[in-house]
Amino acid sequence: MIQRRSAPPLAPAERRQKLLGAERATETFGRPGRHRVALGFANSYEIGMSNLGFQWVYRLFNREEDVTCERFFFDAQGSGRRGPRTLESDTPLAAFPLVAFSISWEMDYVHFLRILADARIPSDRRERTDDDPIVLIGGDCARINPLPLTPYADAFALGDGEKLVPGLAEVLRANLPRAAALERLGTLKGLYVPSVHGEHAETASEGKIVVDQFRSAEGPTREPPHTTILTPHTELSDKLLIEVARGCSEMCRFCWAAYAMAPQVRIPASSILAVAERCRPLTSRVGLIATAVADHPDILPILEGLSHLGFHIALSSIKIDAISEELLAILARQGEKSLAIAPEAGNERLRRAINKKVSDESLREKVRLIARAGFTNLKLYLQVGLPGETEQDVDDLVTMVDDLRLVMLEEGRKRGRLGTLVPSVNAFIPKPHTPFETEVLEDPDELARKLKKLDAAFRKMPNVTFRGMPVNEAIWEAYLARMGLESGPILAQAAAGAPVRTLVREHRETLLSVARPAARIDTARRGVFDLASRQASPWGFISKS
Ligand code: SF4
Repeated sequence: MIQRRSAPPLAPAERRQKLLGAERATETFGRPGRHRVALGFANSYEIGMSNLGFQWVYRLFNREEDVTCERFFFDAQGSGRRGPRTLESDTPLAAFPLVAFSISWEMDYVHFLRILADARIPSDRRERTDDDPIVLIGGDCARINPLPLTPYADAFALGDGEKLVPGLAEVLRANLPRAAALERLGTLKGLYVPSVHGEHAETASEGKIVVDQFRSAEGPTREPPHTTILTPHTELSDKLLIEVARGCSEMCRFCWAAYAMAPQVRIPASSILAVAERCRPLTSRVGLIATAVADHPDILPILEGLSHLGFHIALSSIKIDAISEELLAILARQGEKSLAIAPEAGNERLRRAINKKVSDESLREKVRLIARAGFTNLKLYLQVGLPGETEQDVDDLVTMVDDLRLVMLEEGRKRGRLGTLVPSVNAFIPKPHTPFETEVLEDPDELARKLKKLDAAFRKMPNVTFRGMPVNEAIWEAYLARMGLESGPILAQAAAGAPVRTLVREHRETLLSVARPAARIDTARRGVFDLASRQASPWGFISKS
C-alpha cells in the first residue's frame, strides 16, 4: 500500500507570499502611517483570521490617522532564528513601539509567552527598556482575569475595541518614552497598566479598573463589526463574518459573555444588510456572529435579506427559543444539514437552576422542527458537574438524549433519512464575573465517572455519537480561568512545551486548590453574586461601572 505523505511545511517566505496573495480586503486604507503597531493573535493564522474581534481591531487601528497596523500569528513550527515577524512587511516584532495581542482563550497564554521569548522581547515587563516595545493584551482574557499575566504585559485593554483604539492611537502618535507612555495609558478608561495602577490596581481610582464597553444606547448608529480581510486559508474559508449582537438576553448563570457584555447591544438589520451588500462582490459566504446567534428581534428579515443577496448563511449554535419553522426553512433552503443547540442540562429543574429557560416540552418541539426541516446532524452542547447536580440529573441527560433521538428518528423516517445526534459534554468550568464564579470544578474522579457513565450509555444508542471533555483539560481550563500570580512557573513550563497531562500530574495540588477552593459554598445563596468573594478574588478589581 502506498502511504500518502503530508506536504512539507512551506519556508516562511513562501508561506507569507501564499497567505498574502490569497487575501482580499473589504476596506482599503490610506497610505501607510508613521506610527506602527503590531497586532498579534496568540494562535495560528488560520484560527486568528477566523476571529472577528482580531479582524475588527486590525481595521480600527488602520483607520486611525497616521497609524499602520500589521498582523502576526503564533507558528506552532516555531519561527526559527528570524523570530516572529509581521505578515505585511516581514518586520521583527521588537522593531514596533507597540505590540498588541488579542487573546480570546486562556489556552493561548502559553503561545503568548512563546512569542515574546522568540521575539527576544523580555518576558518580564520590569526588564524592558526604552528600546523594547510596549506589550499590550486585549481580548476576552484581559477582561476576565488579567492578574496572571501582569508580570508579562505592560498594559491590558479592558473593553471594546471601538472604545479603546482611539486612545491607544493617540498615545502612539505622541511618541513618548516608555515610562511616560505607560503613565499616559494609565489615564485612559479601560486601560489597566500594572506599573501605574499596581498588581491589584490598588492605586487606581477607587482601587478598580473600569471596563470601557459599548452601551446599548449607542446601538442604532453602530456599524457592525465585520471581516476586514477575506482569505480561503482560515477555518471559515472566505466567510464574511458580521456581528449582529453583543451580549445575550438569557443570562445563563455560568456564561461569562452574557454577564461581561451586558447590557446586550443589537445592530440594526439595515446596517447589517448594507455591509453584506457592499461585500457581496468579494464572497458569497456569510457567518453571523453574536454571543447567542438568533437572539435578535430582526433575525428573520436579516436572514431573508442575506438569502436574497445570494449568500450562503452559516449560524454556529442557535438559541433554542429562537428556532422557528421560518428560520429553519431559510437555512435548509441552502442545503444546510447540521445544526447545534445548547440545552446544557438534562431536565428542567437543573436548567432553571442555571437560568436556562427551556422546558423539556419546548426542547422536544424544537428538535422536531429541526428534524422536520431536513437537518440530519444535530449537536447538543451539554455539561456535567453543574452546581447542585445530582445523580438523577446525570441520568436525565441520557434520558433526554434518547428522547430527542427518537424524535429525530420519527421525523427522519418520514423523510427517508435517519439523522445523527451528537451530545457534546463539557465539564462545568466556573468562570469569573458570573454568579457561579465562587462554585468549584467537580471532583475529577467524579467527573471521570460521570463521563464514563455517559459514554457507556450513549454507545448503546444507535444514531448517537458522544463527545466528552477529557478530565485533564477540564482541570487545566478551570485553573486557567481563575489562577492568580502563583501561576508564573506553571505557565512558564507550559510555554516551554509541557503537555497538559504533565502539567496536571506535576501540579495537581496547586491546580485543584484554585479549581476547587476549600471555601464552602452556601447553597442557599447559590447563583447570587457574592460581593465579598468577588473583592477577594484575583479579578476583583475589574469592574463594569
Ligand atoms: S443562551 Fe448562550 S450566550 Fe446566552 S447566556 Fe446562555 S450560554 Fe450565554
